[in-house]
Amino acid sequence: MAMEAESSLEWLSPGDLDHLKVSPDGRCWWCRERASTTGEHKYKQTDLARLMGDDSLIWAGDGGTREIRGKSGIKRDRYGVVKFPKSMCDTCNNARSQSFDRAYTTFSTYLDSTWVRIQPGVSFEEIYGDPWQKDTLDLARYYGKHFGCRMVRSGLPVPDSLRAFLDGDDDMPDAHTALVTTDSVHRVAGKGLTLSSDFVWTNRERTEFRGCVMAAYVGSVGVRYQWWAERQRPEGWDSQFFHFPTPVINCFEDEQALMEGRTRRPGWFSRFSQWLNRPSSHGNAEQG
Ligand SMILES: [Zn+2]
Repeated sequence: MAMEAESSLEWLSPGDLDHLKVSPDGRCWWCRERASTTGEHKYKQTDLARLMGDDSLIWAGDGGTREIRGKSGIKRDRYGVVKFPKSMCDTCNNARSQSFDRAYTTFSTYLDSTWVRIQPGVSFEEIYGDPWQKDTLDLARYYGKHFGCRMVRSGLPVPDSLRAFLDGDDDMPDAHTALVTTDSVHRVAGKGLTLSSDFVWTNRERTEFRGCVMAAYVGSVGVRYQWWAERQRPEGWDSQFFHFPTPVINCFEDEQALMEGRTRRPGWFSRFSQWLNRPSSHGNAEQG
């Protein structure tokens, strides 16, 4: 975990933020009603089996890199790598989010079979066809569920905006989401599945969480989520990838740049400066 001072970045030791962490109360973080009896898969099991083949899964996060070898490793999950701690009820984790899971499966299958890293953007119209608007929202809600589980795991409060988004809102006023690709992930991930570290900000006194950044990838392309406490989202961060038929893939050199939101120039069209979620050249220009 990291804390941002005004000009420098300070890396904290494990435990330094324990006093801020929200303890699990045994209830599902989405509905806040039923008992949390299930752990969301960090990676969908079908995806894992398909993507892994006989290779190992490399998982970066929680301050280290771990590896699962072979498909049998998925079922055993000895190190708690594949499933999050139990934080959702069965209804929310399955029935309520079925359409999210479906949209994600389509997306990850596309990423697995298409070389999108060097493209300016991802065409959701191509992936989903006519219902792309609904399906792209469902995809974003899949990632919302994923990031919510990670926030619980890291002891962060789950923002109300995230719950409302899963419930059907079409935006999150205190968060930003973008499609990303990260060079350092590309170098190690191959076709595997990778999670970024969970980056967390506090105030200077370390008495409050101020925000977080996390990302999840298929190969080296994925979704970045940033949340700001008390709706302190800065100007220019109000566009969400899921509102565009062909959102830009934002390029980062490494995880630190990803955390800071510092994009590098894309290889594909260097005279563009890169704005998070700027529609790509073959997206609809009127939303630019
Ligand atoms: Zn629930």
